[in-house]
Amino acid sequence: MANVPVQRMSQLMAKTLRDDPADAEVLSHKLLVRAGYVRRTAAGIWSWLPLGMRVLRNVERIVREEMDAIGAQEVLLPALLPREPYDATGRWDEYGPELFRLKDRKGGDYLLGPTHEEIFTLLVKDQASSYKDLPVILYQIQNKYRDEARPRAGILRGREFLMKDSYSFDTEDEGLARSYALHREAYQRIFARLGLDYRICAATAGAMGGSKSEEFLAPAEAGEDTFADCPNCDFAANTEATTYELKPVDATDVPAAEDIPTPDTPTIETLAASLGVPASATLKNLLVKVDGEIVAVGVPGDREVDLDKVEAHFAPAVVELVTETDFAARPDLVRGYVGPKGLDKVTYIADPRVAPGTSWITGANKAGTHTKNVVAGRDFEVDQYVDVVVVQQGDPCPKCGTGLVLDRAIEIGHIFQLGRKYADALKLDVLGQNGKPVRVTMGSYGVGVSRAVAALAEQTADDKGLCWPREVAPADVHVVAAGKALQTELALDVSGKLAAAGVRVLVDDRPGVSPGVKFTDSELIGVPQILVAGRRAADGVVELKDRRTGEREELTVEEAVARLT
Ligand code: ATP
Ligand code: MG
Ligand code: MG
Ligand code: MG
Repeated sequence: MANVPVQRMSQLMAKTLRDDPADAEVLSHKLLVRAGYVRRTAAGIWSWLPLGMRVLRNVERIVREEMDAIGAQEVLLPALLPREPYDATGRWDEYGPELFRLKDRKGGDYLLGPTHEEIFTLLVKDQASSYKDLPVILYQIQNKYRDEARPRAGILRGREFLMKDSYSFDTEDEGLARSYALHREAYQRIFARLGLDYRICAATAGAMGGSKSEEFLAPAEAGEDTFADCPNCDFAANTEATTYELKPVDATDVPAAEDIPTPDTPTIETLAASLGVPASATLKNLLVKVDGEIVAVGVPGDREVDLDKVEAHFAPAVVELVTETDFAARPDLVRGYVGPKGLDKVTYIADPRVAPGTSWITGANKAGTHTKNVVAGRDFEVDQYVDVVVVQQGDPCPKCGTGLVLDRAIEIGHIFQLGRKYADALKLDVLGQNGKPVRVTMGSYGVGVSRAVAALAEQTADDKGLCWPREVAPADVHVVAAGKALQTELALDVSGKLAAAGVRVLVDDRPGVSPGVKFTDSELIGVPQILVAGRRAADGVVELKDRRTGEREELTVEEAVARLT
């Protein structure tokens, strides 16, 4: 191992804080700020200080190594992007208010990339001409920008955040399946190396579009996703996905368009008034009952039912709003459809004229737009109808029948089979074996690199502070000079020896800081091994402490160095 410089706390640009930041709600936010890893610059915008930077770089390195190992090639595309490609795919409009849009001095439209499907598609269009140039997997590790509605939870949900995003390009469906499987395995290795506890869950495609998709969820109190976990087998599913999963049903039992009566008084004002909210309100986790019947369901998570845009179907009956807390009160079954653009384009608005369970759902034909009297199949294509299952605590596991447990989790990664959506929009073809153009099929895959730091903090911290696994820790050993000049001298000596052997050392050599404060800080900072030069420094004896277990042992300097290298 290479000799690495010793990081001296007397010179470190990081102050530990005794108190939690006032606006902090979740553990990782509190601890990463208090331990001097990050500082808030603006809402959802963060600066990384030296210790935080080391952890971030370690996560990045692991991600990079595993991506390289599946043959992915690293590139770096701009974060500042022109509008045109996003117009071609419709996302300039469809992405909604999360997209940071800006103008240059000439009035041209630009955006800050929230995810880069368009630009990668164009890159491959420019570079690949034949099937021989494929398959290819490209990735980058880069800041992404999303104007999150509620940038809370510190690093967990930034408006600027670091993501590894990769994109696969294949000519055949089997090729896409292979690229997807490679990513799935790489992600399993990444999260295992990071020391994260995680589950792989079936998921919805979200704003990405496409068909198959899975999420990597890290169970944690602070998580914003709810997932159903089987305590007995490997079944796990995001409730966001299980809300509209399973059993395709026969589309022929959908009433013909002309048989559907137009509702009498379909006004949003009526609905809003009966809910006691302004018509412009955006409701989360909405469940609307009309005369005891469920008529509208907003899906938990970041999907929203914007009353301003819901224009159809609500008769002026007794409407009650049920919030997330009683979300479990939903009946087991309503029915939805999967449109050609994927599940995200479905809007979960049940038609009140048909009872749940037997109902079909009408809804949007455009993302974020709930158009009056839209009829699936008439006004837009429908790929399949699905029964919508709402999973509740204790429901039987579909695999083994054991009662499911609902838990909170953090989405740390997401893999998608996009299919030809982007290739169609941007006309990405290569010449096939027979000399004819073949449309390329794509996948896209993301790891929240900065989020993984916070997720790891959430899962590993204890009541004393952060507690990193060695591979991501900002140092391997935290050497504490607990005393006066003698102790400092010994601490620096042993630090030098460790560094010479390739061990990453953080040494607390701050003059005039009491041993008590240094001990507390070492536990807050969370390096896995703490080596104290204290009482027996004169004998060349140090104390080695395991940050997690608290176990301690007295050793000579030589023994300690041997133990830690
Ligand atoms: P979420 O559901 O938490 O909003 P997402 O589904 O919108 O995330 P994707 O588009 O799937 O996110 O992006 C890939 C990965 O990027 C996510 O799995 C997550 O780990 C990370 N990520 C997404 N949004 C943020 C954010 N605001 N801050 C930090 N990491 C994020
Ligand atoms: Mg999101
Ligand atoms: Mg998500
Ligand atoms: Mg996602």
